[in-house]
Amino acid sequence: MAVGWARDGAVQEQIDASVNDAVNRAREKLPKGKSLTHCMECERVIPEARRKAIPGVCLCVECQSEFEKQQATSSGYNRRGSKDSQLK
Ligand SMILES: [Zn+2]
Repeated sequence: MAVGWARDGAVQEQIDASVNDAVNRAREKLPKGKSLTHCMECERVIPEARRKAIPGVCLCVECQSEFEKQQATSSGYNRRGSKDSQLK
């Protein structure tokens, strides 16, 4: 019985580690990669200077700032939510 319990714990640790790994890999992908010539959102041309300044950029200045606003709001909300669920 004790062995079975220890195994469960080890499996849980592995799951946590692989989830964190996947999240980190997804984050690494976001800011890098190929820059788009046109905004993903409104299809306006992204200036070359902006593309060079931000590798992997896929939004124009306006859409990017909108996106960041949304990210700030939703990630703050999610962080609070996951903290609550961890406490329970
Ligand atoms: Zn745009």
